Amino acid sequence: HAKKHGRNNYQYYTADMNAAAYERLMLETNLRRALEREEFRLYYQPQIDVQSGAVTGVEALIRWQSPELGLVSPGEFIPLLEETGLIVPVGEWVIETACRQMKEWLDAGYPSMTMAVNLSARQFHQVDLVERIAQILQELNLPPELLELELTESMVMESVDSAVEILHKLKRMGVKVAIDDFGTGVSSLGYLKHFPVDTLKISHDFVLNLPRDSVDASIASAVINLARNMQLSSVAEGVENAEQMDFLSGQDCERLQGYLFSRPVPAEKIAELLGTWQAMPKKSG
Ligand code: C2E
Ligand code: MG
Ligand code: MG
Ligand code: MG
Repeated sequence: HAKKHGRNNYQYYTADMNAAAYERLMLETNLRRALEREEFRLYYQPQIDVQSGAVTGVEALIRWQSPELGLVSPGEFIPLLEETGLIVPVGEWVIETACRQMKEWLDAGYPSMTMAVNLSARQFHQVDLVERIAQILQELNLPPELLELELTESMVMESVDSAVEILHKLKRMGVKVAIDDFGTGVSSLGYLKHFPVDTLKISHDFVLNLPRDSVDASIASAVINLARNMQLSSVAEGVENAEQMDFLSGQDCERLQGYLFSRPVPAEKIAELLGTWQAMPKKSG
């Protein structure tokens, strides 16, 4: 009896696995087609400069407008893009689309804003990444310092020597580099000595319970101070309420980003928001 039972379980288990594998395969096939079918979209979330109260940059965030699934968040498909290597062509599409958008805004006469673009590990270590970025910036005649690439600690720690080389090439070109979700990785602070970066981004994990959580408050202010002392820029992400904003601006965090100001929105909406946020009160003192 036990044997039979076991076999039934086994069959059940396999059927389940097949279903999961099939679903994954369908997702992969659809993602493969998504690029050709132009189903990826970039949304943009404003970054507000604390001193001036103006929008001085945006972060580009990818979405997948799937005919079957609707608007899909990156958390649900970036890992699969990474596994399959599809992240390389999709990531290049992201950089190019974000840069074209930046060009459009500049040509339309908006004040110049930085364009933050997230990179994946595989994309970062792609041999021709730096050349490709140089090419795109040159073709569009864009100032390189307006592009800010967001990397994570683990991406640079994965292969330190090549990361240092890539970062120096980017620096020579004038492209900015931000460490995303700073402080959530496992690396030591010492690596900042070797990596030429421009910006530290405070993870929304640390922003969420500000200012009540005293540990988070200490971490956030330590990162802001570290950035200032190293002459780096600081950005806090996930700012959802006035208390968080007051704490972070009181600590002299340079830029704020979060639902309090705006969710990530399609490009057309950014123009409207620019008008709104120009009216934000300036910081006194
Ligand atoms: P991230 O780069 O840390 O982006 C911040 C995430 O926080 C975004 O989620 C954003 O929509 C969300 N967010 C912004 N403000 C708030 C807030 O006030 N409260 C809360 N709770 N969340 C907020 P999203 O757009 O779902 O992106 C998730 C992650 O996917 C990103 O995290 C990034 O790691 C990755 N990602 C997004 N776009 C790209 C891309 O083009 N390429 C690559 N390689 N990764 C991307
Ligand atoms: Mg980011
Ligand atoms: Mg982040
Ligand atoms: Mg994140």
